[in-house]
Amino acid sequence: KELTDINALADEYLRLSYHGLRAKDKTFNADFKTILDPNLPKIEIIPQDFGRVLLNIINNAFYAVQQKAKQGIEGYKPTVTVATKVNPQEDLIVTITDNGGGMPESIKTKIFQPFFTTKPTGQGTGLGLSLSYDIITKGHAGTLEVESTEGEGTEFIITLPLK
Ligand code: ADP
Ligand code: MG
Repeated sequence: KELTDINALADEYLRLSYHGLRAKDKTFNADFKTILDPNLPKIEIIPQDFGRVLLNIINNAFYAVQQKAKQGIEGYKPTVTVATKVNPQEDLIVTITDNGGGMPESIKTKIFQPFFTTKPTGQGTGLGLSLSYDIITKGHAGTLEVESTEGEGTEFIITLPLK
C-alpha cells in the first residue's frame, strides 16, 4: 500500500477513460466533471488496484451515457461525475455518477457476480465489477455500493475507512 492522493488519481483516471474511449470511437462524446474535496486526506491504498476499480466503474458510466445518447432524446447531455469527500463517520467516499439509462432491480442484484454482463459479445467480460468489489472489500476493507434508477442514472459509492 502507498499513501495516495485520491483526488489526483480520480482526476487522472477520469481523463484516461474519456480519452481512451474517444481514441476508439471518434463519435464518442460526453461531459465529465469532478467535485473534489480540497481537504481530502491522503490514504493508504494499492494505487494500481484502486485505479483499476476507478477505470472499470468510470468506463461503465461512459458506456451507459453513450448508449442513452444514441436514443436521441432532445436536450440530453451525457455526463459522468466523480466526487470525493469525507463523511461524518470518518470514511473517505468516492462516488461515480452518470445520467445514463440506469438499471432495473433484476440487473442491479447481479452486477457484482463474475461474468455477469448485459453488453454484446466482445464488448464486456462481466468481470469489471466483481473484480472491483473484491479489490475494495477484501483489498482495502471498504465497501462498494450502487444506487440506480431506471431511465435516470446510476451512482457507485466507494467507502474507504480512514482509521
Ligand atoms: P461489463 O462492463 O463487462 O459488462 P461489469 O462487471 O463492469 O461488466 O458490469 C456488469 C454489468 O453491470 C454491465 O453489463 C451493466 O449491465 C451493468 N452496469 C454497470 N455499470 C453500469 C452503469 N453505470 N449503468 C448501467 N448499468 C451498469
Ligand atoms: Mg465494465
